[in-house]
Amino acid sequence: MSQRPYIVGNWKMNGSRVMLAEARAIDRAAQRYPDVEIALAPPFPFLGPVREAVSAIGVGGQDCHTAAKGAHTGDVSAAMLADIGSDFVILGHSERRRDHGETDALVRAKAEAALAAGLSIIICVGETLEERDAGKAEAVVSSQVEGSVPAGEVAAVAAGRLALAYEPVWAIGTGRVAAVEDVVAMHAAVGARLAAIFGEDADKVRILYGGSVNGENAAGLLAAAGVGGALVGGASLTADAFLPIVAAAS
Ligand code: PEP
Repeated sequence: MSQRPYIVGNWKMNGSRVMLAEARAIDRAAQRYPDVEIALAPPFPFLGPVREAVSAIGVGGQDCHTAAKGAHTGDVSAAMLADIGSDFVILGHSERRRDHGETDALVRAKAEAALAAGLSIIICVGETLEERDAGKAEAVVSSQVEGSVPAGEVAAVAAGRLALAYEPVWAIGTGRVAAVEDVVAMHAAVGARLAAIFGEDADKVRILYGGSVNGENAAGLLAAAGVGGALVGGASLTADAFLPIVAAAS
């Protein structure tokens, strides 16, 4: 199934209300790129305001809890994200795996909670530099896909609402982009794991690349076989930096 490329900006823990102007500018420009699906994931405090400021792009959270509600101070549930109009949630970003000890099993539980709340999900996977240098990149990423992606009974629902983001940890925020041939090889490996989980429905899952994507390198990455879009950190913080990536996807 051929789908629009998906370009998602992850603002991480950056921004302020001033950045609503950037979201508005991205939203206005989005109307020029109907062939690209565009979305932003601002920090929780700005999620509602960004949602209200835009109409042509998707908006989502950067994490959610496994429970729908309860005694979990500081956490946010998928149901809450859905309630304020979020379309999706990013799960298992390497910064959450690193800073909060998130395991594949936890990411899968969060993914199931998000699906139950009606959200789409973007699950992040990726190897460290040590793992790549040790020749273990494909094994590590395959195992993350197998452990993090919802399977079994919810698989049919999950396939239609899932994007997988391959983000080599060493490429995130470093200015060091993965070589296109390595991206192609890893996306093929991820695609094979998804086919084992979802069968024919695996075609519905877009596999995004993330890691120092910018306006200069986006065209080459997005044209590569198996790349269905990009998850963008630093270059999503301003419309001027983000829109050339969207244009490259168009
Ligand atoms: C990310 O946060 O997912 C990311 C890929 O960051 P950056 O584009 O800054 O490398």
